[in-house]
Amino acid sequence: MQVLKFGGTSCGSAKAIEQVCQIVQSYQKKGKMIIVVSAMSGITDKLIACGKLAGQGNDAYKQQLQEIEHKHFEAIRQLFPITIQSGLISQVKKQLNNLENLCDGIFQVGELSRRSLDKIMSYGELLSSWMIAEKMKQVGLHAAWKDSRELIVTDNNFGNAQVDFESTNDHITAYFQHAPEEYFVCPGFIAQSFQQETTTLGRGGSDYSAAIMAAAVDANVLEIWTDVSGMMTADPRIVSQAIPIPHISYEEAMELSHFGAKVIYPPTIQPVMDRRIPIWIKNTFAPNDYGTLIKDNGEKTYPVTGISGIQNIALLTLEGSGMVGIPGFSKRLFESLHREKVNVILITQSSSEHSITVGIHETDMLKAKAVVDSTFAQEIHDKKIEPLIVEKDLSIVAVVGDNMKNHHNMSGRLFGALGRNAINIRAIAQGSTEKNISTVISKHDVKKALNVIHEAFFSAPTKQVNLFVVGVGNVGGKLLEQLDQQKAFLQNELGLNIRVMAVANSKNMVFSENGLPLDNWQPALQSGEEMSMQAFAEKIISQNLRNSVFVDNTASAAVASTYALFLQNGISVVTCNKIACASEYASYKSLKELARKYNASFMFETNVGAGLPVINTLNDMIRSGDKIHSIEAVLSGSLNFVFNHFVEGQSFRSVVQAAQDEGYTEPDPRIDLSGTDVMRKILILARESGTVMEIEDITNNGFLPDEALNAPSVAEFYNQLDVHAEHFNNLRRAADAEGKKLKFVASFKDGKAAVGLQSVGPDHPFYQLEGKDNIVLYKSNRYAAQPLIVKGAGAGADVTASGIFADIIKTASL
Ligand code: ADP
Ligand code: ASP
Ligand code: MG
Repeated sequence: MQVLKFGGTSCGSAKAIEQVCQIVQSYQKKGKMIIVVSAMSGITDKLIACGKLAGQGNDAYKQQLQEIEHKHFEAIRQLFPITIQSGLISQVKKQLNNLENLCDGIFQVGELSRRSLDKIMSYGELLSSWMIAEKMKQVGLHAAWKDSRELIVTDNNFGNAQVDFESTNDHITAYFQHAPEEYFVCPGFIAQSFQQETTTLGRGGSDYSAAIMAAAVDANVLEIWTDVSGMMTADPRIVSQAIPIPHISYEEAMELSHFGAKVIYPPTIQPVMDRRIPIWIKNTFAPNDYGTLIKDNGEKTYPVTGISGIQNIALLTLEGSGMVGIPGFSKRLFESLHREKVNVILITQSSSEHSITVGIHETDMLKAKAVVDSTFAQEIHDKKIEPLIVEKDLSIVAVVGDNMKNHHNMSGRLFGALGRNAINIRAIAQGSTEKNISTVISKHDVKKALNVIHEAFFSAPTKQVNLFVVGVGNVGGKLLEQLDQQKAFLQNELGLNIRVMAVANSKNMVFSENGLPLDNWQPALQSGEEMSMQAFAEKIISQNLRNSVFVDNTASAAVASTYALFLQNGISVVTCNKIACASEYASYKSLKELARKYNASFMFETNVGAGLPVINTLNDMIRSGDKIHSIEAVLSGSLNFVFNHFVEGQSFRSVVQAAQDEGYTEPDPRIDLSGTDVMRKILILARESGTVMEIEDITNNGFLPDEALNAPSVAEFYNQLDVHAEHFNNLRRAADAEGKKLKFVASFKDGKAAVGLQSVGPDHPFYQLEGKDNIVLYKSNRYAAQPLIVKGAGAGADVTASGIFADIIKTASL
């Protein structure tokens, strides 16, 4: 015999029911077939709502009843020829009238008992199974409807009744042995107590009904037909990269379902496992997909078989020095929880025996606290132990696999993945069989945790990286363009799926559910919300997406002030904005420390020399044990442009004006000409070399006359350049006379930094520096005779964007 169970979605519409009939008809049947069905999808929830509303004296239950009626009538109209519709509808109506009478009674009394709720819920399966049996007869199958309440006997624990297997098995074998039909359609989920009252087996319990029948008739297979192609490596609603598991052992399936894999109701496995009957999970809507075969021992592709999670967990911790070395504490703890029917999901005890921690459902939290504190009242009074500590808003995430024991570093991989994403682990439990490692984390982190763990264990084809970009002008705009161009390459070659989840400029901000279109993000931003940096940051943090990176392409202090918040939440920061790294040393240092503590990256390569690998080179040297002796650099593209063009016959003023017109200077060119920008850059390099330094510690040998530097306006500044034209000409002539060129040089040596104008001769590496190029010379232990030189374009939107891009890739690849 075979037992097939069809779930709620599989029976959820006329179309789905037709599909069920087709599957049954196309079957290579061996002997009789038992078909167990759920209520049409959504109906059990509606029935519960109906009962609750009636119990609260709210007549809105009538509306629910009408919706239930409508759904069934609609299915009948679509399933059956018009000639027999009215007969069937009147039979269903009779049932619905009984249901209505029941609800009316509850409404009158204003109280809903668990007994009545079971009775109400039973209508879902009763109606669907009856309808499906009729349909099977109508398509010519030799089918019968059989009420499972006449087969499955339980206690009267309404809502979650316990099965009496002895009498149940007798009823089932007796009935199916003698019944003449070939196909039997039975309602799942419902049963009957010894007192002949309707009971239910717990939400999702139709799977269990089918398993009970399969075990009783010793079926050759139990098939669970549902709406996904098998048991998957993780809940597909949370982890989009989840894949079906073709083979899995009973124990693994049991662990996964206990830890939240809803696709199979946990008690289902035991009865069939006892008889070694395989369970095959199949997809009603893709019947040719293999699905999942649950049996003794499956072949394994990965060390981990699946990952699941349970929400709304509370942790109870009993601790105190009075527990150490004294037997009986855990016995009393668990007995007291058992007395109150508190289900213990996870247990850990430290080897010092100083504390025991257990995980339970949050709904049991208050009664657990009360019973444990009263059990240990004397010890608490004597200060031998503390009152029970209760923490809530937690979740359990479990990694399951029979094969884990054969692989080393499983927990390392798990904790590494969580740690890298700043997910704090509150408790851990690993059985000595190493089939399951469970971690307790904040409820808020579940989605992120499941996804990063999945990526860590199932050689994910792609790693998803989520970007939040502020500043989409010159540099930011180019960055998005480059990301768009490289999308396919990153996906194919590096397995990175980079999504831009939000963009903002100074006016607007926009978030997107699945990533903005990189070739057409502008309209979305234009019609986005008004930009508020605080709201932007809050939203990013509350989304709590894995591998999140905040990208700052602005020069705004307000934006820079949010970095700490991001890093504290495990969100990496990539920035070309120099403000954060060039402000007080303490704040630069604390950002670096936050990044380390929360396992996030803080990357700012573009702060110095745009896309040139200036900071990275320095970091690599220092990390590999080199010692920096000195740094000499030309770090201002604007100043380089100015002095390269300042030749005989040109006035200094006209050259500065040209640089500004070309967009190589700030709107107020003094920010460049005063050397402030270069000071910030050498400050960052000095700090990255390991020196504690503030901007005030840097000597600025400026070349601008005070009247120009302090002019009240930009126009007046330009006038002053004319007034002092000879000053600039003299500087140039002096250099020319020696066959040298003027360069604005930043230097760092012996812990001191300075910036200022220098004249360099043809043998100096700075002499041949073209256009707006930058150059950096590092002298070190390893590069003592000849410096290590980094040289190239040091300004421009394209190269700056590419530097940011490179930082993003480095962050993503960590
Ligand atoms: P049915 O009504 O057929 O019993 P359920 O809704 O009870 O179906 O269970 C199937 C659903 O379980 C899937 O649609 C899926 O969203 C969810 N689910 C959760 N975890 C898993 C998992 N690990 N594998 C497959 N499905 C899962
Ligand atoms: N209809 C019941 C429920 O929704 C049982 C089931 O579908 O398995 O919980
Ligand atoms: Mg189910």
